Amino acid sequence: MKNILTIIGARPQFIKASVVSRVIQKTDGINEVLLHTGQHFDANMSDVFFNQLGIPCPDIQLNIHGGNHGSMTGQMLIEIEKNILECKPDRVLVYGDTNSTLAGALAAAKLHVPVAHVEAGLRSFNMAMPEEINRILTDQISDLLFCPTSAAVENLKNEGFVNGSGKILQVGDVMQDAAQLFASQAEAPIGLNIEGEYILATVHRAENTDNPARLTNIVNALNNIHSSIAPVVLPMHPRTRDAIHRLGLHLNVRCIEPVGYFEMIWLLMQAGLVLTDSGGVQKEAFFFSKACITLRDQTEWVELIDNGANVLVGCDPFAIERAVLQNYGRKVEDPDQLYGGGEASKEIVAQLTL
Ligand code: UDP
Repeated sequence: MKNILTIIGARPQFIKASVVSRVIQKTDGINEVLLHTGQHFDANMSDVFFNQLGIPCPDIQLNIHGGNHGSMTGQMLIEIEKNILECKPDRVLVYGDTNSTLAGALAAAKLHVPVAHVEAGLRSFNMAMPEEINRILTDQISDLLFCPTSAAVENLKNEGFVNGSGKILQVGDVMQDAAQLFASQAEAPIGLNIEGEYILATVHRAENTDNPARLTNIVNALNNIHSSIAPVVLPMHPRTRDAIHRLGLHLNVRCIEPVGYFEMIWLLMQAGLVLTDSGGVQKEAFFFSKACITLRDQTEWVELIDNGANVLVGCDPFAIERAVLQNYGRKVEDPDQLYGGGEASKEIVAQLTL
């Protein structure tokens, strides 16, 4: 029996882990212990995903959130180490690029427990992003590197990984597995009465929320688009809400509370365009055939830029509005199955059981 300790803590990790945990539960010879660091803790940022997606109740809850990056990651490191010593897993499984990812990988590697990283090899080449630091360091100490795309494999090879002890595997993207698995359960957010198409927007990256000039530009652009092009629906991340409040900005679009995954899929399906700085939402727009405008200067999902499904605009209001006018209502296609076609979780679990 292979004992896996899975470390999750943030919204996108709940969605990614849900599809892998499902396959683990149906597979003989593998057992999963689930540790939730507490990085995201609000009911609508955490509980709703466990309930909707059938994720087992975490075996271990750390309730660590808030504070600076170092203090949050440090507290997680201390507590995860204790739990690894107690559970004695054969392997630690981490997802993505959050502080929970890095703390889990580091605690395990220091105890000589092998680490598997789902979403290995992604790079923005912007070391100012906390996510970039987390993912580079996690890859360095992982021995199973589950890459979602060929670009991710290339990044690792360019960093010399091919000569190291890590096993690089292009398995596809677990977020496509999730989008396909749960698409039939899409449901409208309660209380959102919206007629016809709209633009679905999400903004939460620190590079935008923690930079007053960038956030002000984005708010101005969204207000103009909402009043003159098409309604903008924006499920508001708590970090963005706090930053807007702190800066005294006024966002005059259809702001709603963060929604569950079924509601998010519904919003994606009905949208005429997606405007986002989220990694996951860029791909989900593509999975549901919507063009995407990305409010960042780089993206890890370069294949979507190359095939024209996604347009990088940064935060210049004129560039954002021009891109919206050019792309609103445009449909995109995926003839090459860029993200593996929905088989990633099976491939990952097959490797974990070896
Ligand atoms: N998401 C959601 N409800 C929301 C906003 C996002 O379920 O109100 C989902 C979204 O569909 C995607 C994931 O959360 O699957 C993305 O997470 P986020 O944007 O927080 O992080 P990132 O992908 O940028 O790491």
